[in-house]
Amino acid sequence: MFFNNTDKRYNRFSDHLRNLYGVKVYKVTLDAGFTCPNRDGTISNEGCIFCDNGGSFSQLYPHDISIKDQLDLGIQLSKDKYKAQKFLAYFQAYSNTYKPVNELREIYDQALSHEDVIGMNIGTRPDCVDNEKLDLIGDYTKKHYVWLEYGLQSIHEKSLKFINRGHSFETFCHALKETQKRNINVCAHVILGLPNETKKDMLETAKVLGDLGVNGVKIHLLCVLNNTRLVKLYYQGKVPMMEEDEYVETACDFLELLPPYVTIHRLAGNGLKPNMLAPGWLSKKFVVLNKIDKLLEERNSYQGSKIISNI
Ligand code: SF4
Repeated sequence: MFFNNTDKRYNRFSDHLRNLYGVKVYKVTLDAGFTCPNRDGTISNEGCIFCDNGGSFSQLYPHDISIKDQLDLGIQLSKDKYKAQKFLAYFQAYSNTYKPVNELREIYDQALSHEDVIGMNIGTRPDCVDNEKLDLIGDYTKKHYVWLEYGLQSIHEKSLKFINRGHSFETFCHALKETQKRNINVCAHVILGLPNETKKDMLETAKVLGDLGVNGVKIHLLCVLNNTRLVKLYYQGKVPMMEEDEYVETACDFLELLPPYVTIHRLAGNGLKPNMLAPGWLSKKFVVLNKIDKLLEERNSYQGSKIISNI
């Protein structure tokens, strides 16, 4: 089975967008000056063990400028480089619902008033939303294409504790339910290769997310970025890195357990090369993605094939 009129055996978000809008749609990453309760001392001041000083921001161009200037810059770059024609404002750095509702409205309005922007993706923590904020975001869905991206990383409490997430899986489930009530698309971020997780544990995360009805999944591999607490644990030998083939196999198994309608927002990669310490093989991201395509082809399987064959 192929997706979005391509030769991909999984439902890649970029292809889904092209199908939806008929042109290349690109996410422009933004730093809107948020912080995070897991860094500012409200929950902890240490942050998640994999998070660097940028709050998981992945853009190299300047981000201490206005939202409009960031959008102008990002849009021009992606028009030149990717021939993109429509754009999603991606609030990526830190927790992008972690301000009072009136301030959130101002921030989101700034992005959505840009003539080239058709919608937004808001990255946040599941404990940083409430009914009022979700009502606000839900309202935007009437005129715009809107996603909430919740950092979850794993459904297993032992892992959430190890990475110092500072919230439980139950908190995620509650936020998800409230978000779904308002017809907002939800993307869950997960990390494969967390220490103490077996392959069975990782695949359980796929099954559960499918059962919960998330609309999208962003799959990361655990990697060590400079200036994170993971660095010390890595050098102490307490955090073994997944090998490339192991990751490729696990990612394919993971995809086979996700329902076909779930869009895949990312399948490998976390962090920009200059900032990444390990694993080295991840710097060749396209090699990894090609290996995933190849293995799905060899297996003659596709996203959701294990669910569908069990019905
Ligand atoms: S919740 Fe996000 S921004 Fe906050 S510490 Fe964790 S990864 Fe970093």
